[in-house]
Amino acid sequence: MENCLFCKIVEGKIPSTKVYEDEHVYAFKDIHAQAKIHYLFVHKRHSHDVMDLMQEKSQLIDIFSGIGQLVQKENLHQSGFRLVNNCGALAGQTVFHTHFHLLSGEELGAFGARR
Ligand code: AMP
Ligand code: ZN
Repeated sequence: MENCLFCKIVEGKIPSTKVYEDEHVYAFKDIHAQAKIHYLFVHKRHSHDVMDLMQEKSQLIDIFSGIGQLVQKENLHQSGFRLVNNCGALAGQTVFHTHFHLLSGEELGAFGARR
């Protein structure tokens, strides 16, 4: 997808700090980390938001398989972790290539609904 920031990151046209990659999935450090560990997981195939993946459920499985691999590798299940997906601008989505935030590495604040 042209002019998609995360497609460019997947293609290596924009630099990122990779934390996980397989055939389908790419994960990298969020540039504005909200926790000690803050990674973004994307499918290599472009989609606009998570509702698209309701039609492409295999992509959800791919992404969650990747998350599972990394959680096990970095032992994040011991301390706990939070997965976040923002769907749509009102929910805070700013990059329209579906992604899941993985937050961990410290005690996380209460999850807020309002600004
Ligand atoms: P969202 O607001 O849910 O769409 O999340 C987008 C996330 O992408 C934000 O947490 C940003 O900090 C992050 N982000 C934006 N540009 C980059 C970049 N070039 N490299 C890594 N993370 C980025
Ligand atoms: Zn994209």
